[in-house]
Amino acid sequence: MTNFLTTPPNHFDLPRRIRRLGELAYNLWWTWNPYAQRLFNRIDNELWERLNHNPLLFLRQVGRMEINAAAQNQYYLELYERVFSDFDEYLKAAATWCSHTYNDRCKKLTAYFSMEFGLHETIPIYSGGLGVLAGDHLKEASDLGLPLVGIGLMYAEGYFSQRISEDGWQEAINQPLNFDDLPVLPVLDKEGNLVKITVNFPDRSVNACIWELRVGRVPLYLLDTDLDENTPNDRKLTARLYWSDIDLRIAQEVLLGVGGVRALRKLGYTPSVWHMNEGHAAFLTLERARELVAEGVPFEKAIQKIRKNNVFTTHTPVPAGNDEFPLWLIDKNLSNYWGELGISRDQFVDLARGKQAWGETFSMPILALKLSEGRNAVSELHGRVSRRMWQFLWPDEDVEDVPITSITNGVHTPTWLARRMRVLFDKYLGEDWLERLDDPAVWSKAEHIPDDELWAVRMHLKRKLAFYALERTRQRWMKGGYHPIQAIASGAMLDPYVLTIGFARRFATYKRANLVFSDLERLLSLINQPNYPVQIIFAGKAHPADEPGKLLIQEVYRIVKRAENGGRLVFLEDYDMNLARYLVQGVDVWMNNPRRPNEASGTSGMKAAMNGVLNFSVLDGWWREAYNGSNGWAIGEDADLDSDIQDESDAASLYEVLEKEIIPLYYTGRNAENIPLGWVAKIKESLRTVTPQFSTRRMVKEYVERLYLPASK
Ligand SMILES: *Cc1c(COP(=O)(O)O)cnc(C)c1O
Repeated sequence: MTNFLTTPPNHFDLPRRIRRLGELAYNLWWTWNPYAQRLFNRIDNELWERLNHNPLLFLRQVGRMEINAAAQNQYYLELYERVFSDFDEYLKAAATWCSHTYNDRCKKLTAYFSMEFGLHETIPIYSGGLGVLAGDHLKEASDLGLPLVGIGLMYAEGYFSQRISEDGWQEAINQPLNFDDLPVLPVLDKEGNLVKITVNFPDRSVNACIWELRVGRVPLYLLDTDLDENTPNDRKLTARLYWSDIDLRIAQEVLLGVGGVRALRKLGYTPSVWHMNEGHAAFLTLERARELVAEGVPFEKAIQKIRKNNVFTTHTPVPAGNDEFPLWLIDKNLSNYWGELGISRDQFVDLARGKQAWGETFSMPILALKLSEGRNAVSELHGRVSRRMWQFLWPDEDVEDVPITSITNGVHTPTWLARRMRVLFDKYLGEDWLERLDDPAVWSKAEHIPDDELWAVRMHLKRKLAFYALERTRQRWMKGGYHPIQAIASGAMLDPYVLTIGFARRFATYKRANLVFSDLERLLSLINQPNYPVQIIFAGKAHPADEPGKLLIQEVYRIVKRAENGGRLVFLEDYDMNLARYLVQGVDVWMNNPRRPNEASGTSGMKAAMNGVLNFSVLDGWWREAYNGSNGWAIGEDADLDSDIQDESDAASLYEVLEKEIIPLYYTGRNAENIPLGWVAKIKESLRTVTPQFSTRRMVKEYVERLYLPASK
């Protein structure tokens, strides 16, 4: 098992009896254990909410009286004992899936590189699905006892917070984070000085220090160039996630790839497997080759050697997600490398030569594909699309033989599951359901959950969402400067008893947030039907440089503000992991309508399914594999169509299914207790079929068996 290098300070002024809360605050294990969360919110729930679930701030600010009351409350202390006994047991990791299944082979370490990690709302170093997947991967690796260490960047300002102006324009707010308030610790040497690594560019060197974040048993190391000795420009390298300035962007990726390898070496890790989560980290291949060349291994041999234990996951067929750089930028940032590798510039560029209308490029996914033996896409259809997309790299192979496999994404179940659902599962799925998350036999017991209990939890979660939206609106309103129409747009008229559809994701144009508005008249007549009203809640950020994405938000927001919709269309600002939890737990239907086949996998619908929310989606990515005709609904067909035709036929299908199937199933066929039995049956079918398969439990095991173990031989 990997070990943490740093000791968390326990500098909180806490009563002795509950001192270890300070320790818990420094391990994200608490974020996926509802009883551990309770140890904080039970002391002062309002403060806990106000501080956005930040335990460090909470322990510093909580009142003396409240904390003493907890330390003297018998029930609190019992909970405390139980949580810490679980925590200690967990960290000891005596018996895990990994040690059971693989014994010594499980001692091989995997290094997992990612530009973003979505672990918790208080640590905003993620922008969307890619980061959340990386965060879920670490949590699951921890649960399975897999020796894994994460590498990423520590962003001084994190990703932006979103405000929507009265006219629907997205405003990006970037605020410096205070790292003292986050559960990150600087890695120090014996003398107490910062441990630093250096990354060399042709004209300069850049230093970075290293932060450690604990994710259960897994350490995550985050590089940070905001050091006095760096130039102001280099200090900015880790200021923000995804600079659009390509000069900064490439230097960021050099820092992640090259700096990441150097950091691991410096910290004394010797990984057997190197996993690149998307192409951003692909420069790690060059650094690994350079190490061998420096030891006297010829370049070709070095490449062959490192390729064996590199693993690369491609996450999107969309060009914006596949970084490539003009060659002048490569000259400017990497020209020192070809000498060190003992090759010419031409040979160097050949490692990743791509082509765009505007000229030749150096492509990060090509570099990663060429220098990894393990390669995968993130759903079956995405595998097919990727093999077609990259076939030119294997000109002698037929498209189906292009060596890119697929491992469909999953989500970390304990992170996304509502506490009340968890209690239901504890009661009806058998004691060890959490240990057997990916076992379909566990989930076949979902049919035994009594309809009224399941429905009561569903209604509770929807009320929670509605009241959360109301409370946020109230807070904004009280700050002043909020137009009444914005209050309505942000949910002031939400009704917790109405059929509610959620649509939340990044606002990239291919996700077609406006598809549901294709025929506005028809939509309005559907949502305003007497006795059968419907609400739709939208949320999502656009990348600050994505003008079409921001225009799309504006288009949605302007419609949301119209009086005719009766406040039943809502846009919630600042989609993050906290809001995501409320939404995937609280709505009735999770809608997703990307233009196929651009959604490589998608994961939010999986989070929804485990909470008893039904999916209503295009047959793209994961849903194409999950949909069985009775566990949710499909939009459009399982076919590839041209964009224009697809937009039209998907919109028609969306209205049709909504009108003829979804709305009637929700409102009719209710029993004497007013429970829609057909609906509840569908929820159980969704729990039974979706939850075991689309969990990171299944996913990380697949990575181990199909990619990590072969790579570590
Ligand atoms: C899960 C999640 C995503 C990814 O959702 P998709 O279905 O892939 O669009 C994006 N953002 C947040 C905050 C999430 O929690």
